[in-house]
Amino acid sequence: MGTVTTKVLDGSEQGFATTKFGDLLRWAQKYSLFQYPFVTACCGMEFMSFAGPRFDMARFGAEAPRFSPRQSDLLWVVGTISQRQAPVLRRVYEQMCDPKWVLAFGTCASCGGFYDNYATVPGIDKIIPVDVYIPGCPPRPEAVIDGLLLLQDKIASGSREPAVVKPRIDPQQGQLVTLTGRRPEANEL
Ligand code: SF4
Repeated sequence: MGTVTTKVLDGSEQGFATTKFGDLLRWAQKYSLFQYPFVTACCGMEFMSFAGPRFDMARFGAEAPRFSPRQSDLLWVVGTISQRQAPVLRRVYEQMCDPKWVLAFGTCASCGGFYDNYATVPGIDKIIPVDVYIPGCPPRPEAVIDGLLLLQDKIASGSREPAVVKPRIDPQQGQLVTLTGRRPEANEL
């Protein structure tokens, strides 16, 4: 009697793939972000650059702005937040759909930047939870892309731990570059 062999077909051979519902949902969420840009200061210039055709946030499924927080699930906080703006920002966040995510765009949004004074909020995490911090004054569009990809990874994994974008290595020179594009000082390495 001959040997009977069995073969378990994987999904790709049968035209389908198996997954868990939660994974499928998170996969869909990470590529269908509806952003609410809360833009207050000079970082807005880099946000426009990121949104334009050169860097093209549409590649990541995050380009559709919604100017009602009720239709948004991704809050971009771009620029300096004053104490007078803080209640407005908090209200916008509260009105957004769940689940929702927050990106702190630039040093001012992340920690207040060099505005160490009574009028400036020293980081939006004093008001609302932040998922990803993108340092830089302003951050380069590449760093913003890194921040968005980092957020997408977090959405896919279901993690709500805050994360910070790290500096990149220049692929041509093999050197570390800072988030503003200049070479880092020795004490920054
Ligand atoms: S981080 Fe720099 S560029 Fe961005 S809002 Fe603050 S001062 Fe302006």
